[in-house]
Amino acid sequence: MGVPSAMELLRIWETSQHQSSAHQALQLLAAAHPDQAWETLSQLSVGQRDGLLLTLRQQLFGPQLACVADCPNCSDRVEITLRVADLQLPTQPVTPPFMLKVEDYEVQFRLPTGGDLVAIAGAANPDQAQQTVLNRCLLSVRYQGEAVTDAPLPSTVLDRLIATIADMDPQADIRLDLTCPHCQHGWQLSFDIAFFLQREIQTWAYRLLQDVHCLARAYGWSEAEIVGMTPQRRHLYVEMASHG
Ligand SMILES: [Zn+2]
Repeated sequence: MGVPSAMELLRIWETSQHQSSAHQALQLLAAAHPDQAWETLSQLSVGQRDGLLLTLRQQLFGPQLACVADCPNCSDRVEITLRVADLQLPTQPVTPPFMLKVEDYEVQFRLPTGGDLVAIAGAANPDQAQQTVLNRCLLSVRYQGEAVTDAPLPSTVLDRLIATIADMDPQADIRLDLTCPHCQHGWQLSFDIAFFLQREIQTWAYRLLQDVHCLARAYGWSEAEIVGMTPQRRHLYVEMASHG
């Protein structure tokens, strides 16, 4: 695994800033794993994808994550610091297809992938998105031994399928237990590393471009020269430039 350079990261930010976080996630993984085809990376399960994204996040920005959330009870802002390592679960490689038997149904399925999440980026609502993902993950359905092609699955079967998928790919759904320091209200927050990284890269890119603007104006250096510096050197120059 390689770490994308600052220039490469800036290019990814620029080309994907109006795309979904799922799309940007694949671009990041493609940059970090140049030996892997896009198709292969998009077929990783969401949990496998997120495990790799967490590792990449740690290499790009360090082992700690700063999050903010609004308390659903008192609306107070809660700040949380997380460690990347605490969010990473051990993963076992699994190979589809998988089989689930519920009542008289036999369902063959695979796990939702990063590619599925790219495909649902334009979905009208979460229910439609979930339905689309499940349809993509269903490989075959048999009822009392006969193949079923277009009849909808009963909700008991669907619920079991959703629960089974969640059990098989726990890294795909990280939930944080939060307590509001103001009102002591407790709640669970879903943590989506792809979404988090998209926002973080956005903030990083704005800051970097501000530095480029400041140093290009002060010293006449090119964008490539400034972006290619180590952050330490760049920050020092920015400090010196802003003190005249
Ligand atoms: Zn509160």
